[in-house]
Amino acid sequence: AFILPAAVLVSQTSILEAAERERTFIAIKPDGVQRGLISEIIHRFERKGYKLVAIKLVIPTKEFAEKHYHDLKGRPFFNGLRDFLSSGPVVAMVWEGQGVIKYGRKLIGATSPHNSEPGTIRGDLAVSVGRNTIHGSDGPETANAEIALWFKPEELVSYTSNAEKWLYE
Ligand code: ADP
Repeated sequence: AFILPAAVLVSQTSILEAAERERTFIAIKPDGVQRGLISEIIHRFERKGYKLVAIKLVIPTKEFAEKHYHDLKGRPFFNGLRDFLSSGPVVAMVWEGQGVIKYGRKLIGATSPHNSEPGTIRGDLAVSVGRNTIHGSDGPETANAEIALWFKPEELVSYTSNAEKWLYE
């Protein structure tokens, strides 16, 4: 295996504009993993043109799940949500691309699958709000915070995709 010197990585990634290096945190929740939807969900981000820069399978502890959903503490469904997130394997990912935070949320669909449009992940693949298969950061600050919570900096892989020159003008 080759380990590229930092200078090479910098020159490779600097081909992209900062806007094209926007990153978001996406997680396939335990229901999505158990239902065999990992490849289906990854496929939707991948074929859109977004670039996977980090991925791992983890079973979050309850404490970790609480940290992830800290802004929902006090909501009636919080304990159930925390327990569910820590009930089994979760696929944690970071995806990169122009507008990926906002458009990733569009690919995911509305929080309740009853309101998610067909064509979205939740619209096509889920029924109940508490089992809506996927999480995606809802803004730039949460994206940064969630990426930092779930991944060490060295787990984020910066690289050039050959498709970039066909995705960005
Ligand atoms: P989103 O995941 O779309 O950003 P929220 O951050 O508001 O939505 O909520 C986090 C998660 O909590 C949702 O994805 C859903 O699984 C769960 N949730 C939200 N509202 C409810 C509810 N009323 N009952 C049960 N679970 C809920």
